[in-house]
Amino acid sequence: MSATPLPPGSTIGILGGGQLGRMLALDAARMGYRCHIYCPEASAPAAEVAAAATVAAYDDAEALAAFAVAVDLVTYEFENVPAATAATLAAKRPVEPSPKVLEICQNRLKEKRFLTELGLRTAPFAAVDSLQDLQAGLAKVGTPAVLKTTQFGYDGKGQRLIEDPADAAAAFADLGRAALILEGFVTFAYEASVLVARNALGEVACYPLVENRHRDHILQSTHVPAPASAETAEAAEDLARRIAEGLELRGLIGVELFVLADGGLLVNEMAPRPHNSGHWTIDAAVTSQFEQCLRALCGLPLGSAAPLGPAVMENLLGNQVERWMEILADPRAKLHLYGKGEARPGRKMGHVTRLLPPAPESKSRAR
Ligand code: AMP
Repeated sequence: MSATPLPPGSTIGILGGGQLGRMLALDAARMGYRCHIYCPEASAPAAEVAAAATVAAYDDAEALAAFAVAVDLVTYEFENVPAATAATLAAKRPVEPSPKVLEICQNRLKEKRFLTELGLRTAPFAAVDSLQDLQAGLAKVGTPAVLKTTQFGYDGKGQRLIEDPADAAAAFADLGRAALILEGFVTFAYEASVLVARNALGEVACYPLVENRHRDHILQSTHVPAPASAETAEAAEDLARRIAEGLELRGLIGVELFVLADGGLLVNEMAPRPHNSGHWTIDAAVTSQFEQCLRALCGLPLGSAAPLGPAVMENLLGNQVERWMEILADPRAKLHLYGKGEARPGRKMGHVTRLLPPAPESKSRAR
C-alpha cells in the first residue's frame, strides 16, 4: 500500500463476521466507507450492519477471487485467518495488517521470538515438539508452567497448567498432537493491555494502559486507567510503540501484558485487530479503537487516543445479556448488544461502558 490515503467511499473487506467486525463496520459507515464482510457463517453479527456480505469458506478460491474484486483493501477481525487465505488475497489487494504480521501474531512461538528480539520481556519459554522437549523445557522454566498450543488457542483453550514435572506426560498426551510452547507461570499483580495504531506514514497513537479482569480465562471487565505508576504506564506505551514499529504495522494491535508487583511488564500476546479490552474507547475516548483502526488502515491521520475520563467496560457473557433493562435504567450506562441469537455460557453477547467520576489525582495511579 502506498501512503496515498484510501478515500471515503472505498470498500473495506473484512474477514470474519463477529462483533469486532460489526463495530468496525458501524464506525466505517459513519466515516463514509463501505464494508464487505467475508465469513463462513450465514447469520453473522457484522454482516447485519455491513453494505455487503459473502458467506463462504476461507478456502473457497472462487468466492475469494470475487471478494478481492469487490473491495479496495482487506483486513480481518480475528487472527486465526488461514495463512493461505491471506496470501491469496494479498496477491490481488492490500491486506493490512500485513500477512507477515498475521503470521507472527497467530503463532505463540514466533510471537515470543519477535518480542525477545525487540528486547522486550515475556514469560520464559521453550518450544515443545516431543515429551523430551517438554521435560527439558520444564527443567529450564521450572514449575508451575503452562503448556499451550502455538496456534488456534483463545480464551484459555488449548492450555494445560503443569504444577509438577510428574504431570508432564499427561499434559503432553492431552495437547501433544499440535506444535506446543511451554511458558513459565507468571505471578502477576494484574493483567493489562495497551492498544496502539500506526498508519502508512509511520504515525503512531497509543491508548493508555488499562487493567483487565478475567473469569474462567474470559475477559470480564476492563478498568481505565490501570492502577499503575506513571513510569509503568509510560513503559507500556513505549513498548507498544516499539512493537508497532518493529512490525511496520498498518492498522491497530492489542498488546496483552502481565504487570508484576514491582511494576515490571511482561508481554503475554498480541492481537493484530481491535481488541475486547478496547471497547471502552467507543464511549470513553476521543477516538474509538474502531475509528482509529480504520484511520490507520486507510492511511488517514490518526485521532486522539486520549480518554475522556476513568471508565469501566463490562462484558455481557451468556445470559448476563438478560440484564439489558437493568443496565438501561442507569442513564449514564452505554449498552452495546451484538445481535447474537443464542446466549451460550461464556459467549460474548454485548458489553456496557460507564464513565466514572474523575478520581482525585493522588488516588488515580495508586495501587
Ligand atoms: P492467553 O490465551 O495466553 O491469553 O491465556 C489466557 C489467560 O491464561 C491469561 O489471560 C492469563 O490469565 C493466563 N495465563 C496465560 N499464560 C500465563 C502464564 N505464562 N502465566 C500465568 N498466567 C498465564
